[in-house]
Amino acid sequence: MIDKSNEWYLEDLSENIRRTFKTKRENGQFIGSFAPYGYLKDPTNKNHLVIDSVASEIVKEIFEMYSNGIGRLTIARKLNDRKIPCPYEYKKSIGCKWVPGSTLINRRNSKFGGNFWYDTTVGDILKNETYIGNLVQGKTTYVSYKNKTPIKKDRKDWIIVAEAHEPIVSEELFKKCTELRSTRARGQKFGGKIHILSGKIFCAEYGERMNRYTATASAAMANRYEYARCVRVLKFSKTACKNFYSISLKTLESMLIEKINSLLSRHVKGELIDIEKVDDTKKKRKALEIEKKKISVDKAKKESHLTSLYEDKLEGNITIEQFKIFNKKIDGEIQKMNDRIEMIEKEIEMLNAKTEKKNNRDEILKKYVKVENLNRSIIDEFVESIYIGCITENKQREVTVNFKI
Ligand SMILES: [Zn+2]
Repeated sequence: MIDKSNEWYLEDLSENIRRTFKTKRENGQFIGSFAPYGYLKDPTNKNHLVIDSVASEIVKEIFEMYSNGIGRLTIARKLNDRKIPCPYEYKKSIGCKWVPGSTLINRRNSKFGGNFWYDTTVGDILKNETYIGNLVQGKTTYVSYKNKTPIKKDRKDWIIVAEAHEPIVSEELFKKCTELRSTRARGQKFGGKIHILSGKIFCAEYGERMNRYTATASAAMANRYEYARCVRVLKFSKTACKNFYSISLKTLESMLIEKINSLLSRHVKGELIDIEKVDDTKKKRKALEIEKKKISVDKAKKESHLTSLYEDKLEGNITIEQFKIFNKKIDGEIQKMNDRIEMIEKEIEMLNAKTEKKNNRDEILKKYVKVENLNRSIIDEFVESIYIGCITENKQREVTVNFKI
């Protein structure tokens, strides 16, 4: 079926006709062949919109729900549960002919049939200024007379006429929803909806990140199908990394909860041996400090020995050859002592870092007895990185968790 309005638009591009329609649009006259959901074409003036008393109630409800923090998907579910006909079905039921390209008609429904509200159906309504009485037209143009591919125009080039018809929602409510939409969109990009394991999961093959992706078999089920997959596979192809299978984030989460809890219980039982031996660390440090002191004393002796050797040479007690031999020997000994002192200092530094890490670990472990649910701050405190290996022949998959503590 060919869209009549588009057809003439393409076939008759004479400046004259174009201007006529542009003028009509600029005068706030509706020239589409299909009124947006919530409106009907005025029977007395086909260039004017009037409120559809039935559908407009749904539109109002959608804006109200959204402004109260209910998401687009939940709104769609609620409408489906109540068996409210989606815009496409509704228009069909009141005798409108479906016109491709019209706004507010769900593309999926038109393609596949069926009566279903989607999050996109709700989203389209929420961003349509028609509902505050503005007539927005001329949003798209065509590549050329011959090429019918529609191109979206910049908003500044749209023809927007305020108060062209009766509004369904107040400007205030519309604005509130617009703000909410932009906050939510930002949240998805920069934090709000970022998965708690984001940035922590890596592919064991090349050490590349594993990114989240959602299997969208059904929009309504989106949350239940969250996976991580090697970015090589996600961005390029299945052959880009042999570790191409995805891993369920839910599975990973429950595995992490288990590992963290086992860490916590080992802490309680005092089984975290490497860090529990505080006394050992103290003893080691003390021994190292004593050794360093002793070496320093020895070193001072050697240095004074070197001085007296030089005096002996000056007084002629030893020959130049003898001096050279002794000098070389003592010099070498002093050098060895310097090396050892340097090594001791490094070891002490390492022990201090270990103690600090242990104190930090105690601090974190003290906060938790048992972890039931994960959140980003728990992940940040406990987990450095998670490496996911390939699935082996016997269906095993190695998951290595590097803990921070
Ligand atoms: Zn990989």
